[in-house]
Amino acid sequence: MKTIDDINFSGKKALVRVDFNVPLDKSFKITDDTRMTAAVPTLKKILDDGGSAILMSHLGRPKDGPDEKYSLKYLVDHLSEILGGATVHFANDCVGEEAEKKASQLQPGEVLLLENTRFHPEESKGDEKLAKQMAKLGDVYVNDAFGSAHRAHSSTTTVAQFFDEKAAGYLLKAELDNADKVLNNAAKPFTAIMGGAKISDKIEIIEQLLDKVDNLIIGGGMCYTFFKAMGGKVGNSLVEEDKLDLANELIQKAKEKGVHLHLPIDSIIADKFDNDAQAKVSNNHTIPDGWMGLDIGPEAREVFSQNIQRSKTILWNGPMGVFEMSNFAEGTRQIAESVVRATEKGAFSLIGGGDSAAAVNSMGYGEKVSFVSTGGGALLEYMEGKELPGVKALME
Ligand code: AMP
Repeated sequence: MKTIDDINFSGKKALVRVDFNVPLDKSFKITDDTRMTAAVPTLKKILDDGGSAILMSHLGRPKDGPDEKYSLKYLVDHLSEILGGATVHFANDCVGEEAEKKASQLQPGEVLLLENTRFHPEESKGDEKLAKQMAKLGDVYVNDAFGSAHRAHSSTTTVAQFFDEKAAGYLLKAELDNADKVLNNAAKPFTAIMGGAKISDKIEIIEQLLDKVDNLIIGGGMCYTFFKAMGGKVGNSLVEEDKLDLANELIQKAKEKGVHLHLPIDSIIADKFDNDAQAKVSNNHTIPDGWMGLDIGPEAREVFSQNIQRSKTILWNGPMGVFEMSNFAEGTRQIAESVVRATEKGAFSLIGGGDSAAAVNSMGYGEKVSFVSTGGGALLEYMEGKELPGVKALME
């Protein structure tokens, strides 16, 4: 796969798929610009070479065509700012006359941001006609949207076939390199920390990891399915009833493969799903009816932390509790802190995207771990051993 370092962009117009799917508040202010700043090195390289950049991205999930709420026009000023004052133009549609005209008039060093690709429902179907129209806008195709690389959409995948010259941006390349490092080249002991709501989303990755890790730590809502499977009483905690057998199978497989499976010894349980609920510490085998586990407990935090401290490679995906509620965020915070301390001692730590990335960033630890992935689903699929269509398209 070519990267942008293999290309001199001087005098060229690069059509770049970025992932600018950033959260906006009600007055269209960007509340977290991580995804935008992550694309800056790639854009700078193109502009510094003397090229110009035409940017495609989606934002949110617009249902039926254009929807003001999901317009990318609100990103123009901030984009110019993070690019050191570069001129950023905007086109009200990602294809068509206006976009073509603005692209053809674009000067070296300038940027053209196109409107949300998902305003065309065909985008998500990988439509070829739409992709061909997009391809008219640039001479070279660059994909830097790791967070969308698992989707075979027009702008992420189909469009690539219309270019002779195509390459991965720095972010896409770094994401793949870091995932590969953990998957294929992990220093031991290797500890994976899995959390979040459901096992069903993470079965495949857990199965893959059982062949690679020394320790598998399981926290978050998904741990209660394991306790119930082992015959415990978990009260009203989150349980996937149809995954009880699977949980037992995973416990058995871990044993067979010599993987230390660590489930939390205790939980913070609450009498309702609310930050102001009554809360207390409980073991995970006798949670009373009407109560539910919403965070890992103090002993679990201690045992998990000791394992993390002894690790040389750490992969973390999914929060340890309902971290969005301040009273149930402490387990996730302490695990984040522990990952930071292990990193300071030389461990390599990769934080899987989505909620764990949000948690680590919001706690101010983003710079203190080895790599925070921008891809939730994309990272999981890549680690499950699936081919990412956006990456494959760059190699064909
Ligand atoms: P996921 O997208 O699968 O990584 O799940 C993230 C979500 O899991 C977050 O919104 C958390 O609030 C939620 N979560 C974590 N622990 C629990 C728990 N014990 N009970 C219910 N939800 C949880």
